[in-house]
Amino acid sequence: MLRKAAAAFAHWIFGGTCLLCRGAAEQGLLCAACDADLPRLRQALCPRCAIPSTAGAICGRCLARPPRYDATVAALEYRFPADVLVHALKFRGELALAGLLGRLLAERIAPDPPVHLILPVPLAARRLRERGYNQALEIARYVARATGGRLAPEACERSRDTPAQIGLPWAERATNVRGAFRVPRPLDGATIAVLDDVMTTGATLDEIAGVLKDSGAARVVNWVVARTFPPG
Ligand SMILES: [Zn+2]
Ligand SMILES: [Zn+2]
Repeated sequence: MLRKAAAAFAHWIFGGTCLLCRGAAEQGLLCAACDADLPRLRQALCPRCAIPSTAGAICGRCLARPPRYDATVAALEYRFPADVLVHALKFRGELALAGLLGRLLAERIAPDPPVHLILPVPLAARRLRERGYNQALEIARYVARATGGRLAPEACERSRDTPAQIGLPWAERATNVRGAFRVPRPLDGATIAVLDDVMTTGATLDEIAGVLKDSGAARVVNWVVARTFPPG
C-alpha cells in the first residue's frame, strides 16, 4: 500500500487522477477510496491539545502544565498518507493541496463559538524567501472562505528567524521559539484561531498564544490540519 501509493504519487501529473493511487478522482485530488482512508481523527481527544484522552477529558499533560491556548481542532493524525500530502504542499510547491487540506480542516470546525480572526502561523522571513509562499496562509485562505472567518495574517509577525523546529529535539523546541513573535496592534478581547499545517509539541502554538494574550486576545484556539501524537 505504502510503496504503491508513493510510486503513484510521483506520477500524479494527469488531471482527474488520484494523487495517492492513480485511480480516477471524480473531483478534487483524491479518489473516494483514498479520501475515505485518510487518518481522520475520530477518537476521543483532549479538547485543549488534541492528543488522545479517555472520554475526551483534558489530558494529564494539559492539567500538569496548562498551555496558553484554550483549545485545538485537528483534522488528521500526522501519519501516512497525511504526511505525504503535507510535505507535498510544504516542500514541493503543490499549492492545489492547500484546498484539499483546508477542506479537511474546515470540516472539523464547529461554527460556535465564532472566531474574530484567523491567523496563519507566520513563516520566518528567510524561509518565506526560499519557498515563495507560506503553506499555513495558503490553507488558511480556504478555511476562511469555508467558515466565513476573517483572515488576518498581519495580526502577528516574526520578530526574529529561528532554526526550523523540525530539526530540534522536542525538549529544545520551546526555547527555540521564545520571543520569536510579536503582535503589532492590540487585540481587544478578540477570539483568534491560529492555523498551522502540523502540530507536534505545540511549542510554537503555545508561544504565539502567549503573545496574542499578552496583547489582549481573550481566547486562542489552534486549527491544525495534522497532529503528531507525542511518543508514549
Ligand atoms: Zn486514490
Ligand atoms: Zn491536552
